[in-house]
Amino acid sequence: MVTHLNPDGDAVGAATAVAHWLRSCSMEPQVIIPDRYPSFLSFMDSNEEVLFFESSRERATQLIDNATLIVMVDFNQLSRSGDMEPTIAASSAYKVLIDHHIEPKREEFDLLIHSSEVSSTCELLYWLLREMGVEIGLSLANSLYIGMMTDTNNFNNSVTSDTLLMASHLLSLGVDKELFQKRIFASFSQERMRLMGHLLLNRFTLLENYRLGYLTLSLEDQLKFNYRKGDSEGFVNLPLRIEEVDIAILFTQLHNSIRVSLRSKEGYSVNDLAIRHFNGGGHKMAAGGTLYIPFGDIDRFLLDSLKESYKICRDE
Ligand code: 5GP
Ligand code: MN
Repeated sequence: MVTHLNPDGDAVGAATAVAHWLRSCSMEPQVIIPDRYPSFLSFMDSNEEVLFFESSRERATQLIDNATLIVMVDFNQLSRSGDMEPTIAASSAYKVLIDHHIEPKREEFDLLIHSSEVSSTCELLYWLLREMGVEIGLSLANSLYIGMMTDTNNFNNSVTSDTLLMASHLLSLGVDKELFQKRIFASFSQERMRLMGHLLLNRFTLLENYRLGYLTLSLEDQLKFNYRKGDSEGFVNLPLRIEEVDIAILFTQLHNSIRVSLRSKEGYSVNDLAIRHFNGGGHKMAAGGTLYIPFGDIDRFLLDSLKESYKICRDE
């Protein structure tokens, strides 16, 4: 099983869920993830069975070269697997995609299990397993629940009646929702909390004309607040709590680029904006991308982009 770069709860949940299922069929799957996931997800891999491509390149390459089946979850094109892309592309394994992002690159996979009408890859996987009559054990239920819970931002976005049916069934199987609630949404370090406050107070800009609010997280601030991977998870949603904001963006400075995270309220979409201006993509109301401009140029770049393309953000 393989996930995308910067894996989130849905990616790790779906990959570990498929692994639990295949193990119950007496297979020997290996989860390989391009790079580390945020520490608040580490409890999902308590036996440390996941292999990280960035730190175990040789072993991971060997496994991918010799695999007969590669299941890729929660991304829609091979390039999202980062440095693993050429190895996967060259492997003769049968390549299955299980994903919920729009417009997957069909030609890159042998089999697509795909729907963009679900909350998460984990929800798609849940209904697939149900359809196949798979008995869902507690470990599998836990992985699926975490993926759905994190991708919906704790049942806030993209939740349908089917999502709640799934949640209800998984809870009946013994998923401890209070424990996950605590581990995922109430386990901030003090520094992470203070960083959030700092960004809201000092690094937030509201563009009233565009009903858009954005946060910037510089390398300097990351150092100051002892930033760890995943610390800014969910911050992009904060500006959407303001009545006058329909689109929210978080710009995170990396060493050679800027990571862009976009979210919108119902009636607005950010996917096209991510494609056109931020070298990325995603879903209608949650997208991401990467910018290669100086960090100090963000304000100007954003205003220029909006002048050109704001109309594509508004649903007809
Ligand atoms: P996030 O803001 O959480 O990093 O990403 C939001 C959504 O956009 C996720 O569903 C993610 O898969 C998608 N996404 C993030 N970055 C990229 C990117 O660089 N390219 C594409 N195609 N999708 C992205
Ligand atoms: Mn997802």
